[in-house]
Amino acid sequence: MSPSDKPNLPPGVDPIIGIDLGTTNSLVAWCDERGPRIIPDEQGRNLLPSVVRFDAKTGQATAVGHAARDHAVEYPRETVFSVKRLMGRGLEDVRGELAYLPYEVVAGEHNTARVRIGGESGRVYSPQEISAIILRELKARAEAWFGRPVRRAVVTVPAYFDDAQRQATRDAGRIAGLDVVRIVNEPTAAALAYNLGQKHGDSTVAVFDLGGGTFDVSILRMQHTDGGGAGGDSSGGDANQVLATSGDTHLGGDDVDRMIVELIQGEIRQEFGESLSFPPATRQAFRTFAEAAKIRLSQERSAPIEVELGQGRVYRRTLTREELEAMAGPWAARALACCASVMRSSKLKTEDIERVVMVGGSTRMPIVRERVSEFFGAELYTALNPDEVVALGAAVQASILAGINRGMLLLDVIPLSLGIETMGGAVAKLITANTTIPARATEKFSTYADGQTNVKIHVLQGERELVKDCRSLGQFELRGIPPMPAGLPKIEVTFLVDANGVLNVSAVERRSEKTAKIQIVPNHGLTQEEVRRMEADSLAYAQEDMTEHRLIDLRNQARLDLRAIERQLAKVGGAMDGAYRQEIEQKMEAVRGYLSQPQPDAEAFAAALTTMDHATVRLAEIAIAKTLRETM
Ligand code: AMP
Repeated sequence: MSPSDKPNLPPGVDPIIGIDLGTTNSLVAWCDERGPRIIPDEQGRNLLPSVVRFDAKTGQATAVGHAARDHAVEYPRETVFSVKRLMGRGLEDVRGELAYLPYEVVAGEHNTARVRIGGESGRVYSPQEISAIILRELKARAEAWFGRPVRRAVVTVPAYFDDAQRQATRDAGRIAGLDVVRIVNEPTAAALAYNLGQKHGDSTVAVFDLGGGTFDVSILRMQHTDGGGAGGDSSGGDANQVLATSGDTHLGGDDVDRMIVELIQGEIRQEFGESLSFPPATRQAFRTFAEAAKIRLSQERSAPIEVELGQGRVYRRTLTREELEAMAGPWAARALACCASVMRSSKLKTEDIERVVMVGGSTRMPIVRERVSEFFGAELYTALNPDEVVALGAAVQASILAGINRGMLLLDVIPLSLGIETMGGAVAKLITANTTIPARATEKFSTYADGQTNVKIHVLQGERELVKDCRSLGQFELRGIPPMPAGLPKIEVTFLVDANGVLNVSAVERRSEKTAKIQIVPNHGLTQEEVRRMEADSLAYAQEDMTEHRLIDLRNQARLDLRAIERQLAKVGGAMDGAYRQEIEQKMEAVRGYLSQPQPDAEAFAAALTTMDHATVRLAEIAIAKTLRETM
């Protein structure tokens, strides 16, 4: 995060932060008129593992977050994770959880679940107190960032949390010195991060949240309200309502890691002996390898796994995405069964679901995206980081409560033009500023080099003509185009800005039907002031930019034409009369001369190009005639 991302808080303003207090990881975020963003720690990390380590003797907390998580295997009895599973629950409610928790859980007052550190005479903590240690860490992170005390927060909880669990979350805040001004349902927060429910009427949204250890799916009714009232949730009796929720408290990415670990262990035994046993540290190493391979397979088709087993033994194999998906198919089916169940409870049909918001790290897996998209047959929202989307939404809710969000730029019209980079650093605009949304535009492009199989699509925002003066929104690659001469592939790039300002860019090569796409939440970071400045700049530099853009186009055209002429000369040059050949060479030299100048006169350059093109009409005819003779 650059220093300019830091908030510029006027003196005396008491910020309200948004907190995602998660089972595995927690985050803190802030939203002002520039949009929501995560507050990182001093090392630039966004996630705080929801893990606390205690000293067995004193019972005091000694490490929080990464430091606690990284040594969990060494201190199984003193490292507390997943404490969220115990919040506001009785010991009887959590019996089923105990098998998963290596630390000691005992009965407290009214048979509530408590954590005991250091055995029988050890110290007993309530889950609220342990959550407070995590919240205090996030509060301190925010205070370091703002350079002033932070006292108020919006905290998210799962939609299915009952009153006792919600109250326990508020209490955890109070213990940490935070006034929890609003508890927001996690799916509602995720939808708010995408601006769903803040404008453009009502909509029915599904939120699919598949994390490391838990899965939730919720159906929400997001309602438009004017004047900053949007963004409540069912608990507050406000506009946005959770219609139904379902899920599985033991379904997540960890299951996939476990399947890969079992595969690795089975194969190691087969190769190196059935009697091999695996101590906890080795199993932990397997889990790390397994997760890394799984994550790699979200991007690539295969991932190498290599484990040193000591005594010169090495286990090696390559895991393919197909193998992973064959293993994970029944696992994904369990999540979809919950989706079917939530649809039944909501009494809606999948056709009624307009959008699906994807939350949780495991929604990066292609198999998950494919199955969910198939099931709902609706557009998936994946532009925001799925690990951060709940915290970002909590911050949006906080800014609404603080009255900050009113100044936020609403994307009823597209405030700045959207386009893509073309050869030589120029920008081709697909959608111009002030187009009302939703908006759609398609433009055709091609390749510049013979045999080019990949094309980079760089999405830009701004009024200026050159890439260097516009703002980069993201980029992606269209790969696997069959090798063809330059200019032959037919690439169609489509921009679609939906009613919430989310931009979907897709590219398809029509001859091969290869496709690629990206989703972007544009301009969250722009204030009205910045938009005005960028517009003013574009007027001031208009003439200069036009010339520069023209030169880029001329250079691109000149290179393409020169290459075509060189090919034709190579083919028929030997049989041509010398004077004509010399004339062509001269015209080419003139064009090359302009190409080599840093700032040629555009008119003269264009004239040289036209002269060269005219002079080579006969050459092209000779070349075509020769080709015809050869092929007839
Ligand atoms: P969360 O609980 O939302 O933080 O999600 C954590 C889970 O997401 C873990 O099981 C991770 O292994 C998984 N995860 C994170 N990134 C990816 C990825 N790129 N592909 C597949 N799984 C991922």
